[in-house]
Amino acid sequence: MKRIAVLTSGGDAPGMNAAIRAVVEQGLHHGIEVLGVRFGYKGLVEGDFIPLSIADVHHKVKRGGTMLYTARYPEFREEATQLLAIEQLKKHEIDGLIVIGGDGSFGGALALTKLGFPAIGIPGTIDNDIPGTEYTIGFDSAMTVALEAIDNISDTAASHNRTFVVEVMGRHAGDIAIWAGIAAGSDAIIIPEESYDIADVARRVDAGRAAGKDYSMIVLAEGVMGVEEFVKQYSEVAPHQSVRGVTLSHIQRGGNPTGRDRVFATLMGAKSVDLLIHGQSGIYVGIINEELAVFDIVETLEKTKHKVREDLYELNLELTERIID
Ligand code: ATP
Repeated sequence: MKRIAVLTSGGDAPGMNAAIRAVVEQGLHHGIEVLGVRFGYKGLVEGDFIPLSIADVHHKVKRGGTMLYTARYPEFREEATQLLAIEQLKKHEIDGLIVIGGDGSFGGALALTKLGFPAIGIPGTIDNDIPGTEYTIGFDSAMTVALEAIDNISDTAASHNRTFVVEVMGRHAGDIAIWAGIAAGSDAIIIPEESYDIADVARRVDAGRAAGKDYSMIVLAEGVMGVEEFVKQYSEVAPHQSVRGVTLSHIQRGGNPTGRDRVFATLMGAKSVDLLIHGQSGIYVGIINEELAVFDIVETLEKTKHKVREDLYELNLELTERIID
């Protein structure tokens, strides 16, 4: 193996640059040249490749986003487009590809492997929603940003004795809502995976106030409904409360990655190079119990579903269950 390439695809996530850095340094350590593909699969098809040196990557470790840029490129689902990508890879004498992205991006890596070109995935998405792995690059950073925002909002909420509903990212997965919500000591966490009764949410908030809280916090995952609609429905069952809604939106995707994101991204980046060198492909690297793990793309994506930490969700329900006399 003489030359490999790395790309980022789908939504950007803080920590992707740390993974790119590890791929480059591990590659160079083994005498392998590493090319970066700009703009995901689109750049792959268009041959938008750049050589990557230690000087290019070393100071990017601390930066959010992705230094290689990213793109959505639905055309890559078509075999004819995948074959064009393989042509480009062969033209540039590349022997293997590392794809950092979400499960959609892994579909691309799998397609290339099936067509005879070795590719390996690294999970990079703030949503933490990739089956198999317990951890995805960017989740810890996004959760931390969401938590800081909720903490800030709680200052003004307390000053006015208000109830705030904060909408965090998570179209299909409630991980950010659960982790940021429990860390912020929220009164309620509303996620797509669990049903809820809005009158019960209001009852918990009232019980918290009766017990002495000077503000209330409800954390809502975007996959449930928009915050405006939630506040409208909530105000109907709790007209006595002063309620405001906030959407954190893309602010959660930005900022410097946390140490945890950088460390796991580095572990997975280096491991993916080792696996390619050992002739493996059609797989992705992940984390289970804080340790590196390797997953078969087809088997895992077909047979496994991502699960949120139900124990944390249940714990929050338990902690916020109070009886008003
Ligand atoms: P995120 O969840 O953070 O948005 P993702 O990787 O799941 O990340 P997608 O938009 O689903 O995001 O996929 C990213 C890109 O991967 C697509 O734009 C497309 O280029 C490619 N892709 C997605 N699904 C497939 C597939 N089944 N086969 C080949 N390529 C795919």
